[in-house]
Amino acid sequence: MQKGRVRRSRALRAPFRLFDLRVIVEQAPGVKMVCNHKLGDSFELRGENLSLPPGQTFPLYSLAALLPLLPAKQRETHPNDWMTTDAVVACPDPLCGGRFRIHRIGTSTFDHSVVTAVPLPTPAPRKDRKPARTRAR
Ligand SMILES: [Zn+2]
Repeated sequence: MQKGRVRRSRALRAPFRLFDLRVIVEQAPGVKMVCNHKLGDSFELRGENLSLPPGQTFPLYSLAALLPLLPAKQRETHPNDWMTTDAVVACPDPLCGGRFRIHRIGTSTFDHSVVTAVPLPTPAPRKDRKPARTRAR
């Protein structure tokens, strides 16, 4: 195998990182919370796994409002992207003062082959190299 091809092949197999997240319940000033989340309640997300502190629950509708945003918050984003700078999500109940602050608390590393059955693409041959010569017969 050619040296350049080995390097590119390793890059394709390299593990990838996702941010680990902790979501903590806050309260909008002067607005009561009406759902079943309490100030300071939290949950964590590492990879695809969501965990709650022992004995704590989290309301389904509040979780439903957060779920579409969490995979994007797990990924590296551009410094000017609003997904990087904005971290507070409002409770979907318009009468509830619940706010959910998403913290990036660390990173976890994953191998592609562990998280999916879809194979990585085979590296295409480099176009800047001449094809190997064959001997004239
Ligand atoms: Zn609420």
